[in-house]
Amino acid sequence: MPFKDPEKQKASHAKWQKNNPEKAKATSRAACRKWRAKNVERERERMRRYHLEHREAEAQKRRAWRTSPEGKAWMKKYRLEHLSETKARRFMGHKVESGQVVKPARCSRCGLDTPRLQAHHENYRRPEEVEWLCAACHGLTRRAARRSANQPVVGQGD
Ligand SMILES: [Zn+2]
Repeated sequence: MPFKDPEKQKASHAKWQKNNPEKAKATSRAACRKWRAKNVERERERMRRYHLEHREAEAQKRRAWRTSPEGKAWMKKYRLEHLSETKARRFMGHKVESGQVVKPARCSRCGLDTPRLQAHHENYRRPEEVEWLCAACHGLTRRAARRSANQPVVGQGD
């Protein structure tokens, strides 16, 4: 029904929202989804900026979770459910620690110069075969692998 008075329309809409909380939630969720789909680039940029600005706080949150009882339990379960991954990661960790393998200076994909390269295993059953990638390239690589395998990859293993 048409409204001449915008205030009346607002009030009527608020009443409808109050009487149909589930419908209202679904409608606003759908609208958000539609907006995000139309503004993918903008959303990506906003998230990138957010993460940059909250880097330290987010790291601290992750640290707190990792050392909490439920975080520890989750990681233990994850390691048991992903044994070949855990073994491959440990294998390369020992190699680097003992000096048998020396991390290169640059990411092998984008050439970024960083001391924090991550070992990417294409196949966890060949733990000695790694590609040294920066965090961004490693994330992209794993997400691409997940897409092609069409199965979930939990966490960002290295
Ligand atoms: Zn890179």
